[in-house]
Amino acid sequence: MVLTNSQPETPITNFGGNISFVPKYFYKPQTEAQVLELLNQHATGNIRVIASLHAWSDVVESEDVIVDMSHFDKVAIAKSEAGDVQVTVGGGCVLQKLLDTIHSQTNFTLPTLGAVKEQTIAGAISTGTHGSGKPSLSHYMDELRVATYDPETGKAGIYEWKNGVELRAARCAVGCMGIILSVTFRCIPQYYVEETVCRYETLEEVLAQEPEFPLQQFMLVPYLWSYFVYQRRETLKKPITPVGRVNTQLYQTYQLIGVDILFHLTLKALLSSLGSSETVRWFYKKLLPSIIVQGKTVVNESENALTMKHQLFKHLEMEVFIPARNILKATKLVQHSTSLFAGTSETVPDDVASDLSRIGLLEMLMKHRGSYTHHYPLFFRRVLPDDTLISMTSSSTEPYYTISFFTYSEPRTQFYEFAKFLAHSLTQLYDARLHWGKYYPLTNREIEHLYPPLEEFRQICKKTDPNGVFRNDYTKRVLGFDPILTQKVSPAP
Ligand SMILES: Cc1cc2nc3c(=O)[nH]c(=O)nc-3n(C[C@H](O)[C@H](O)[C@H](O)COP(=O)(O)OP(=O)(O)OC[C@H]3O[C@@H](n4cnc5c(N)ncnc54)[C@H](O)[C@@H]3O)c2cc1C
Repeated sequence: MVLTNSQPETPITNFGGNISFVPKYFYKPQTEAQVLELLNQHATGNIRVIASLHAWSDVVESEDVIVDMSHFDKVAIAKSEAGDVQVTVGGGCVLQKLLDTIHSQTNFTLPTLGAVKEQTIAGAISTGTHGSGKPSLSHYMDELRVATYDPETGKAGIYEWKNGVELRAARCAVGCMGIILSVTFRCIPQYYVEETVCRYETLEEVLAQEPEFPLQQFMLVPYLWSYFVYQRRETLKKPITPVGRVNTQLYQTYQLIGVDILFHLTLKALLSSLGSSETVRWFYKKLLPSIIVQGKTVVNESENALTMKHQLFKHLEMEVFIPARNILKATKLVQHSTSLFAGTSETVPDDVASDLSRIGLLEMLMKHRGSYTHHYPLFFRRVLPDDTLISMTSSSTEPYYTISFFTYSEPRTQFYEFAKFLAHSLTQLYDARLHWGKYYPLTNREIEHLYPPLEEFRQICKKTDPNGVFRNDYTKRVLGFDPILTQKVSPAP
């Protein structure tokens, strides 16, 4: 079959609506031979793959060649005599389809899951997509089959990385090591999750629950400044009694209608001309605590318990990863900066002020006093170290806590100021790393020291992609690749 360039009629736009571009060439290959053909055709250009377009950073962008890998969605399941289950899945397969196929043929499941199942497997691992209480999905990849260039001949070829530093690099390569054709990983036996939502007033109390609830995640409600903790742990107890099953069903309906839909509709109304900064703060201080269902223990299948319908309303997110040793201090800075931005406080505590003035950012914070009321709970998850070169919890001996900052309002100018202040201060003071696939207001100069293997990663990419075909402005700005290599386009057809 001949590979055709079918330019999209409208610009390609991501989920958040903040990234939009028109490539010169657009391909949707159906075979590996076609992938190699397009790589050879554009060996001096710039190629990026698009998947579900759920990333908020400009990681996906290319003005030259875009490749849609959605035809590569086959799932092959292998069961060993010992009872292990290994899955090989096409890079363009969406997580929901992958889960459905695994569940229809086995009683196994994915080793971890983020909040939604809309991403593709290759897109998810390329930016280190994660949930809470485990490493990211990238960590679990045993083998990657990738189309890229031969360093000797410059010709396109297919490579399989099963071990060594190449595998660790490819597990989370931000699209820089070539086109992922398929990945192979081991599944784990299907499990249930027991969940109870509890309120706590201090972070110390929340963290003390972790040994008992290793999968827990929590939110800090702005302006109330209390924590609501989704205390979660694995259980083999299936809800078998009719009462247990009804409870689970009712809770799931409450999550969908009450949280995923009504909470977000209310928020949208408060952010429209119907609301104001005061009503947003009143909502979090007075109303939200009374409508969160607390103290009810429910058991559900892991897939249902760990995910939500966060994709229903357009939004944008920045997520910072804080090493566990710094989470108390970082959270204090976040809480007081959020109050100051909202104008509900005039100053920050002395220790926060002294940290900020040490890096020259106290004055900047004071300038923003009263300029932005953050309107979404601050979400915290715990991610364990990954065996990768550059995912956000790579080369670490301690877990990281992530803090997510979501915005549902547009224009986003004030949110961007808030996010930039937090990104700069948390990175400089507390070694925060930012999610590669989310709003990313930092440059390589500010983050290089946080990723000791970044230079090794770049050298591996230079070997597998000597002409820098898979690099773009994001990889230049953030990952520090040679700028000259990223400004090429394919020759005219
Ligand atoms: C509603 C929502 C919820 C989210 N929840 C979470 C969460 O819980 N946890 C979390 O960590 N993240 C979360 N994210 C972020 C999301 O998981 C990442 O941005 C992920 O990278 C998106 O995958 P995608 O399939 O949409 O890929 P895209 O956004 O299309 O692409 C992302 C990157 O992957 C590369 N890529 C994709 N396919 C290939 C391939 N075949 N070969 C080589 N490179 C490829 C692209 O070039 C690009 O660099 C969420 C995003 C949204 C919108």
